[in-house]
Amino acid sequence: MKPVSETLAADGRGETPPPAVERPVRIERAVAVAASTLLADEGDDGIERVLDVLLEATDTDFVFLDRNVHDPERGFGFTNVAARCRPGLELSSQVADIFTFVPWSRLPHSRQGLEEGRAVAFTVDELEGPERCFYRDVVETVTRSVVKLPVGRRGRWMGVLGFARTEAGHRWSDDDLDLLGTVASLIATFWERQELDEARTTSMAAMARRIEMEHALAEAGRMLLLGHGEDSLRQALEALRRATGASFAFVNTCEDDPELGPVICSHVTVAAPGLVATVADWEYWRRVPWSRLPTAYRQVAQGRAFAFTIDELNGKERAWYEQAPTRIRSEVKIPIFIGGDLAGIIGFSDLSRARTWDRQDLLLLATAARMVGVFWDRMRAKETLEKLVRSKDEFVAAVSHELRTPLTAVVGLAQELRSDLGRFSRDELEEFVGLIADQATEVAHIVEDLLVVARADIGQVNVAPTRVEIRPELERALAAVFADGEVTVAGDPATVTADPRRLRQILRNLSTNARRYGGPRVEVRVRPGDGVTIIEVRDDGEGIPPELRERIFEPYRTAHDIMGQPASVGLGLTVSRQLARLMDGDLVYLRDGSWSVFRLTLPS
Ligand code: ADP
Repeated sequence: MKPVSETLAADGRGETPPPAVERPVRIERAVAVAASTLLADEGDDGIERVLDVLLEATDTDFVFLDRNVHDPERGFGFTNVAARCRPGLELSSQVADIFTFVPWSRLPHSRQGLEEGRAVAFTVDELEGPERCFYRDVVETVTRSVVKLPVGRRGRWMGVLGFARTEAGHRWSDDDLDLLGTVASLIATFWERQELDEARTTSMAAMARRIEMEHALAEAGRMLLLGHGEDSLRQALEALRRATGASFAFVNTCEDDPELGPVICSHVTVAAPGLVATVADWEYWRRVPWSRLPTAYRQVAQGRAFAFTIDELNGKERAWYEQAPTRIRSEVKIPIFIGGDLAGIIGFSDLSRARTWDRQDLLLLATAARMVGVFWDRMRAKETLEKLVRSKDEFVAAVSHELRTPLTAVVGLAQELRSDLGRFSRDELEEFVGLIADQATEVAHIVEDLLVVARADIGQVNVAPTRVEIRPELERALAAVFADGEVTVAGDPATVTADPRRLRQILRNLSTNARRYGGPRVEVRVRPGDGVTIIEVRDDGEGIPPELRERIFEPYRTAHDIMGQPASVGLGLTVSRQLARLMDGDLVYLRDGSWSVFRLTLPS
């Protein structure tokens, strides 16, 4: 079969029976009405009016306007925009449904001509293949003769303006087609203008939304910058939730649970007016192992925002969302990092919307996440500072207490002596002066420890190592603390390389501790070795709990709060280890059976 348009052309449109005299005039008028209607921009009503006018002017049974559509799933096709029938020829709703989308592949003959910008005219009987089936099965009642005009501009084919008659073999004059072609291009212009208007409205709406988001971000920033506690975070989050229009906004923190492993924990949640996060929700989301949300974890751990609808999730992750007391439809999670570590997430969920977030929105939300990170960082720094201030206060109290005890004795005895020196016998005087000297030495020792710690903080402690005989130093240190014969020193004589003054300071601290905190039996062992000499101060006391064995070497740290010992400064071991290390040795704690051992190593 020849293409119908050619058949029609060959038949000679001029040979069709002459139309009613006034027909060309009617069509011309219809074109003028169409032009003024479309220019007046009456929207889709205008299109309907144009079709009405065309139906009447052309004496056809059916006028239709279709618009091309690129459907991501169904491909390239068209949808009917408007249609008008001669009275008595109404189309069934079934037919109307079919024309909500028709793939162009079903009408290859029409498509070819229209795509090339030509009018296509045919009688259904002359068609072949799928197009014939389409017209036979679907719209035979009204369309025996059809003419279709491409609606398009500047090479862009946008749709079809079509006319159909119930009787077969109707012919259209070239003049008619020219005039109707003018209407088709007016419709194309009208559509283009509509598209431009829509694009402008959309971009203005997007701009307005962006401005609102930026406003919210600034507001959130202000609150996080000026505020302190959870309330500021809540207000900041609410500002962001309002701007996004989300049902819920939340901030969760990442934690390590000894049993569950890495978990994501609810921290702050805000809800849209009329919605509440129920107790059941709170409980459900309170502590969720990351292993239940593997896709979300993979994304956020790599620093990416994860936006999803629940249908897009799989397996246990989807089940977790589907079993939640309040079922949400879509969500976005944005990671919060502090110093390279995933510290938490900020998220927004929608109950009924399958929302897609655009790049710009996600960038703004990522900024919000960074601000929360900075906020948390600041909160942590503040807490550390407060703790430090507290521990310094406690330290000052402890030091004052430690210094006051010997000082009270010194002051008391000195005052007694001054009030009446002659009252005391020589033996009494010797004893008093001895006590004053001992107590003053104790004060001097505490001050010496304090100075080491203060200087070590700024790296200014000097050591002057020489060869030192260890045994006499040990005996001197022990004699100051223990009664004669109370402590045994085992091992061979040894010489170490150390600063004698600093060595004494260490030995004094270890002996005092053994007396204060150790068991009834105390012994000291010296093991000279190749390169290093080991000096162990051992006692058979309860010792130090395993979790504190390293921490007792930290400044101001004591273990006896737990063990019920009296108050002290908590510097002796810190100082001793620092000094040992400055002299290229070390000091560690270990448990040897029922013995508590402080092991000092020094270069031989
Ligand atoms: P201080 O003696 O001022 O408390 P140290 O740094 O010397 O400070 O000691 C830190 C803590 O270690 C002590 O408070 C005590 O709890 C614990 N400790 C030290 N030596 C012993 C020991 N021999 N047995 C048990 N606990 C000890």
